[in-house]
Amino acid sequence: MKKVSVECRDVSLSYGATDVLKNINLTIAPGEFFALLGPSGSGKSTLLRLITGFNSLKTGQLLVDGLDISQVPAWQRDIGMVFQNYALWPHMTVWDNVAFGLVERRVARAALRQRVQDVLELVGLTDYAQRYPGQLSGGQQQRVALARTVVIEPKVLLLDEPLSNLDKNLRTQMRQELLALQRRLGITTIFVTHDQEEAMTTADRMAVLHQGVVQQVGTPVDLFDTPINRFVAEFVGSMNKLNATVQEILADHLVVNLIGGMTCTVATTAVSPSLLNALRVGASVLVCARPHQVSLQQHTQSSLGASQVSSLVLPGTVVAKEFMGQQTRYFVLCNSQQVMVDQTHQLGETPYAVNAHVMINLPTSNIKILDI
Ligand code: ADP
Repeated sequence: MKKVSVECRDVSLSYGATDVLKNINLTIAPGEFFALLGPSGSGKSTLLRLITGFNSLKTGQLLVDGLDISQVPAWQRDIGMVFQNYALWPHMTVWDNVAFGLVERRVARAALRQRVQDVLELVGLTDYAQRYPGQLSGGQQQRVALARTVVIEPKVLLLDEPLSNLDKNLRTQMRQELLALQRRLGITTIFVTHDQEEAMTTADRMAVLHQGVVQQVGTPVDLFDTPINRFVAEFVGSMNKLNATVQEILADHLVVNLIGGMTCTVATTAVSPSLLNALRVGASVLVCARPHQVSLQQHTQSSLGASQVSSLVLPGTVVAKEFMGQQTRYFVLCNSQQVMVDQTHQLGETPYAVNAHVMINLPTSNIKILDI
């Protein structure tokens, strides 16, 4: 089957006077597994429903395989959608649920039987064909919902929070299954989730949506390492944010002043080109780093004020800690700003105590500067 692209060009949508999607531009490559990630109410489902044809856009264009389908009714779009609650027919067997779309399309009997058999095999449910949805586990129901959608061989597969009804262990297992199935089928797939771990572990690329606006698009690594703004930084993982002001802007580096008087020199590559362009001396910024990029060391007088070019070293006090097995997350108060530090736990090691005086060490190469 031909793999197709999906493109949103300047797409906007309102419910009454409320703008829900604002100028969305996205290009999803043929065969890609693409996640739409955002908090509840950010517009993810609305965008998915728009692609299916259940919602209509106010302005813009929606293209599949380069053809504008904005005016094509839902039933002619050749797009399959798996709903959050699976929407299986409870009074029909697994076989009949899966066959339903083919019966509707008047597929000949022999071909229908073959396709249902093939798809049930693909999702590992051959032995469950005569059961009813109520006799299946959550994971099995989810596979029936997938089978029922892919049996009609859609050009594009849309998944609306497909794993949210499953418990945590099953979710982890099913996301690998889902990805393996998508790879076997090669169908361009758009997957909506509010769970950043789910998006990061499965997606080829993802878009972060906030209040109907696409904040950033990229691979999981791009978004984690180079978030474009504070929202993406906080939504994709945890981020330390220290308030600072810009003291000096030079060709290849800038100097910032942290609260408490400490200065820090970072390469201009730590700043996005658009922010760098707008940056002025005296501007307020955030000095950001992931908790695992900061380390803790014993408090010593000799290391006080010893910030070097390559590292920011600050004294602090442990105010709380969470032992998580493989690591401990410390919350350290440094000059009235709280810093999270993730330390890998070694066998037999005693974690720092609450109220312990420590030094945090942040290599400047790990710093990103973001707008406040
Ligand atoms: P998400 O899927 O990210 O949780 P939705 O796309 O469901 O977000 O909703 C986006 C916004 O649109 C929310 O503020 C929601 O309240 C609003 N909304 C969704 N459906 C309707 C509707 N039928 N009428 C009016 N507002 C709606």
